[in-house]
Amino acid sequence: MSSRVIGRGVCPRCGRVGSVVLKELSGKIYVYVKHGREWCYVGPLDRVDLSKVLQDLRTYHSITTILSKYFVPMCGGTVSMRYVVIFVIGLALLLSAYGLSTRYGYESVTLTLTLLSTLVFSLGIAIYEVTTSPTIQYSSLKRVLSYGLWKYFLMMVAVVLVVIFITLPIASPLKFTFEYKVPALSHVVTWIGGKRIEREYIVYHAVYYNIPLTSVLLSSLVVTYLLRPIAQIRGIKWCLGLMLLVLLTSNLVFHAIPQIHALILNPWSLLMYTVVTSLIMFIVSVLFTTFIYMLKKLASIH
Ligand SMILES: [Zn+2]
Repeated sequence: MSSRVIGRGVCPRCGRVGSVVLKELSGKIYVYVKHGREWCYVGPLDRVDLSKVLQDLRTYHSITTILSKYFVPMCGGTVSMRYVVIFVIGLALLLSAYGLSTRYGYESVTLTLTLLSTLVFSLGIAIYEVTTSPTIQYSSLKRVLSYGLWKYFLMMVAVVLVVIFITLPIASPLKFTFEYKVPALSHVVTWIGGKRIEREYIVYHAVYYNIPLTSVLLSSLVVTYLLRPIAQIRGIKWCLGLMLLVLLTSNLVFHAIPQIHALILNPWSLLMYTVVTSLIMFIVSVLFTTFIYMLKKLASIH
């Protein structure tokens, strides 16, 4: 009986990070994940998709030589990007035509350019995933992920927030408008029968702010990208659940930061705004995820 640590990975049984160990028992190889003294049994090697378990390989060279027969079917095979490129160019032209034919001037040009760039980025993600071996994909993101899902979640929220803020000035003919009320103290002086009566009361000024569609598109693309390693390691349900959670948290912070006092007076609007923006971004992110999936499927047609 011999065992060998082949790298670090996420345990499909309990979800914790640990050392991935191969154990040989009477001629058959079994996969285990070791968390300190605890061992989780994953399954026989020929039934386990190691690319979904491993995050980084300690002895990549020995893996490629000794276990090459398990890896070749995963990374090998030819991939054709021809259909994908034709499809994306066609879609890009259609979107440009649509965007430029509206009557909004430069704002529609900006929206069209943003749409085209998100298209190119999605294509980039699809090409990267199709042409790179799953074991080494997103290695830097997976390194952050190995510190724990919680920390990765906080990082995603921070990144999405930064993206929302820096993309706010990008013009778009379509924007989502939100309103909040700023309280201000007001005085009124009246004279009744020679007596001066001063009264104070609070008035509310409505202030409006927008989230342009360009900002929604770019934030959704970033969240889609950041969740790719989660989709690979933990599957699509985790990916969608986390996507919604990340969007809800970052939008809550986004709506609360600039007008914390005003919105605490009216928590209902804070909640509504958070849910509305999160759902819009969630739908766009799901569209991006589906689009990337579709491009990858197209790439495997020969
Ligand atoms: Zn485990």
